[in-house]
Amino acid sequence: MRTPKGLLFVISGPSGVGKGTICAKLLEREPNLRLSLSDTTRDAREGEIDGVNYSFITKEKFLANVENDAYLEWANVYDHFYGTPKSAVEMNIQSGIDTLLEIDTQGASIIKEKCPHGIFIFIAPPNYSALETRLRGRSTDSEETILKRLSQFGQEIRRMPMYDYVVVNDDLECAVDRVRSVIIAEHQRFANSTIFAELFKEDDVL
Ligand code: ADP
Ligand code: 5GP
Repeated sequence: MRTPKGLLFVISGPSGVGKGTICAKLLEREPNLRLSLSDTTRDAREGEIDGVNYSFITKEKFLANVENDAYLEWANVYDHFYGTPKSAVEMNIQSGIDTLLEIDTQGASIIKEKCPHGIFIFIAPPNYSALETRLRGRSTDSEETILKRLSQFGQEIRRMPMYDYVVVNDDLECAVDRVRSVIIAEHQRFANSTIFAELFKEDDVL
């Protein structure tokens, strides 16, 4: 049987909405799903590990990578650079592995142009005050950083219509299940299935 190509899932949403938490649970539960490891120029937070959460690199190295066309997309998000290295994503997809990009809304609109077959999921908070509570409750960012991130909320919400799916992260487990149901459904699309070609070979016995 021909190996189907992996699907590309793009997850975005405002800072603090729970994207990272949801993605971690998806990766535990979906064995054929791999997270694309982004490069960033921001400092590692306490507990973050280079090569696990991000590749933490200098601004000089990041700009050299941009120059060398190493990124599928990149953006300046909340005053730091973030980018998706091209090679790993391409390799995964070709080997039949589903790939998850957890990126901001600017990066998602670039991917939408370059990879229109991608599946775009926006994670929304149940309301603004829950978002603020989560961002503050995470205790990883300074007040200045929190305010900067919250100030982008309107802009991010305005980009919601370009997404294929919106999942409200009210109850965490429900939100994870909703995203998983998108992954399952997308695999049943005719365009993503290899079964027609297989069965077509048997046409003479049908
Ligand atoms: P993001 O990656 O979108 O910036 P995180 O995954 O870091 O957000 O989540 C921000 C905070 O909100 C974390 O402390 C996380 O434990 C918490 N959180 C995530 N989902 C929920 C939820 N459904 N209800 C309450 N708190 C949540
Ligand atoms: P954080 O600093 O909270 O880890 O991430 C800040 C924002 O950058 C989040 O919206 C996250 O999704 C986004 N982000 C992480 N990696 C990338 C990337 O490779 N490209 C883009 N465009 N955004 C990213």
